[in-house]
Amino acid sequence: MSNKEKDWSNLGFSYQPIAKRFVATFKDGQWDEGKLVDDPNITISESAGVLQYAQTCFEGLKAKYSKEGNLVVFRPELNAKRMYDTCEKLCIPPVPVELFLKAVGEVVKANPESVPPYGSGASLYIRPFVFGSGPVIGVAPSSEYTFRVFGTPVGPYFKGGLKPIKLMVSEFDRAAPRGTGHVKAGLNYAMSIYAGQLAHSRGFNENMFLDAQTRTFVEETGGANFLFVTKDGKIVTPKSPSILPSITRISLVTVAKDILHLEIEERPVLFTELEDFVECALCGTAAVISPVGMVHSDEKDIFFPTGMEQPGPITQKLYDTLTGIQMEEIPAPEGWIRIIK
Ligand SMILES: *Cc1c(COP(=O)(O)O)cnc(C)c1O
Repeated sequence: MSNKEKDWSNLGFSYQPIAKRFVATFKDGQWDEGKLVDDPNITISESAGVLQYAQTCFEGLKAKYSKEGNLVVFRPELNAKRMYDTCEKLCIPPVPVELFLKAVGEVVKANPESVPPYGSGASLYIRPFVFGSGPVIGVAPSSEYTFRVFGTPVGPYFKGGLKPIKLMVSEFDRAAPRGTGHVKAGLNYAMSIYAGQLAHSRGFNENMFLDAQTRTFVEETGGANFLFVTKDGKIVTPKSPSILPSITRISLVTVAKDILHLEIEERPVLFTELEDFVECALCGTAAVISPVGMVHSDEKDIFFPTGMEQPGPITQKLYDTLTGIQMEEIPAPEGWIRIIK
């Protein structure tokens, strides 16, 4: 079946194995060159480092067909560098940037029927990840590692336009000061699942996490950074050593500054400031931008003036501009679009 014949509009965000994935192995002190394989399953030691002590990290990015008809990936070298940094923090031998980029390119090229066509709103979500596959029993780095990249087609996050979501201030912390909050380690997600389930059971889409040390500053959600808009049209984004540096956020800040000519403040943001903002949004690869309509905390509920029906005007503008760039509808800043040939 070609990519034109599938029903892309009803895809959700769930795993669907596609034909080919990439595997490389670290053994005897070096990464091999890796290759494409068919089998989506993995056989490893029961004592593998990933299973015993969670020695694993991941990345997430999207491939799509652009308006120009190119197979494109958005700034993958930033994902490669971020995975390199994460590996170092977890004592995983870093996946070389070139190996990462080659693997992403090969997976995209090997699965053209699974890349949704331009205009479908869907994309091929790419999941690079690396884990300790050699046996350990004492707490120590694994002796062998596996780097894999698979793809899975995902639908448009919001079907029928951006829809504001509701957040809850979590009573739990996402990341310790001087911990691993700034790297994309699986362990950061393991301990967010309980808090996430609790938020969902109470009718909220996501948790807002505060800084663990003082619980007075806004950090991020389980998997997306925050952007706020002030009354005078400035963009404010929280700054903290325990926030994961979102590539979407970094790109939106550039879009806001250089294309929309807005003023930007990257600084610690107090929770008590929330009531002063006129727009609030989350940003990350999965949804690009999710407008936030309200935030619940034990003390009070904060409703942003943009309401629960539509995004704020600046949020919408940021979304339209970045997605336009990603689909080659609007000229991209130098080096932002990697064409896979
Ligand atoms: C991956 C991730 C994000 C979003 O990063 P993008 O590069 O924009 O996809 C934000 N917060 C956390 C905790 C993440 O793991």
